[in-house]
Amino acid sequence: MGQKVIALVDCDSFFVSCEQKRNPELKNKPVCVLSNNDGCVISRSKEAKLEGVKMGEPYFMAKKDHQKCIYVTADHEYYSQVSKQVIEVLKDFSPYVQVYSIDEAFIDFTGLTKLYKKNYYNLAKLLREKILLEVDIPVSIGVSSTKTLSKLASDKAKNIPCGVFLIGKRKLKKVLPQTQISEIWGIGRRLTVSLKRNGILTAEELVKHSDKWLDSKIGIHGIEMRHELLGEMVSPVSNDEKLPKSIQNTRAFGIFTSDIHFIQNELKRHIHTSCRKLRSYQTKCSQIGVMLRTKDFRVFYTKKDLLTPVNFELEIAQIAMELLDEIYQPEILYRSTGVYFGKIGEQYVEQLSLYSDTSVDSKKDNLAKCVDKLESRFGKNIVQTGFYKYKK
Ligand SMILES: [Mg+2]
Repeated sequence: MGQKVIALVDCDSFFVSCEQKRNPELKNKPVCVLSNNDGCVISRSKEAKLEGVKMGEPYFMAKKDHQKCIYVTADHEYYSQVSKQVIEVLKDFSPYVQVYSIDEAFIDFTGLTKLYKKNYYNLAKLLREKILLEVDIPVSIGVSSTKTLSKLASDKAKNIPCGVFLIGKRKLKKVLPQTQISEIWGIGRRLTVSLKRNGILTAEELVKHSDKWLDSKIGIHGIEMRHELLGEMVSPVSNDEKLPKSIQNTRAFGIFTSDIHFIQNELKRHIHTSCRKLRSYQTKCSQIGVMLRTKDFRVFYTKKDLLTPVNFELEIAQIAMELLDEIYQPEILYRSTGVYFGKIGEQYVEQLSLYSDTSVDSKKDNLAKCVDKLESRFGKNIVQTGFYKYKK
């Protein structure tokens, strides 16, 4: 996979911007949006921030201390409508859009320079203008080669008038020593404290440590963070909205049989097809099910939830064979079998087990990619795993 260019589009003071879109008279004024029961301030305009209103400040205090401000009660239904409008513009711009939160989305810019005949910086500016023109919502856009870096770039974009910040290779060298670890996406308060205790204060100091050291201190998350900070993509922009809820494959045998080897072979074929589909979404699943249908249409089904999401065929096959053993009865004649993958793409990057062995994981990924490549070149099912030679 070549170098990617990823942008993070982050709507500025989103709830306030929505209110200003609905009621333009609120523009350029100190506006605060209050939580549902008017409990506290949950979004502030630039002007309200200058007035000194704090995020999360209780309304009864804010209205006393900052009487110039205009306070509006949140209308989350409206905000999610506006959010969808912003996403529509993004999807119009690039096919790879991953919604991250109500006011943030990653968008894959790779290769779009040719289409729009603009460099990446101007591409981001164009997108920003488009969103402002079509949805009337101001956004900040960070552009870089990984999600972690584009997130960092978007934070920097917020503080400059043009609203666009690009971190390329050369700027990365300057940015890393200037970035406090608490500014890095995914580093919370507790991790900040523990990293500081280990003498790590900046992003540059973090990336200087080895994968092994980071693994021992933070776990796989630390290794991923380091590589993303170095500009090596760990987590691609995936079209999560189009992710299927489940993937299933089943087909009638064409005969009735109780032959376990025959059934296993059929099941492996379905697993193979399902795995290819799963990987095509660049995702994993955390639930595997196996189904057997008998000659007289009775269905036996069992499933298993996994702690660590998988998309590696051999691993899935092994689990599926165990499940098959649970429901298979030698005295029964069967007409079909099927496999089911559920709990797909539930933020698997964040949920990777702390104890998983990354070297093995990356080998598995490479093997899977290799299989996919061979198949795209030589046709489906050119590579198959551990089939039992079935003799009639
Ligand atoms: Mg925002």
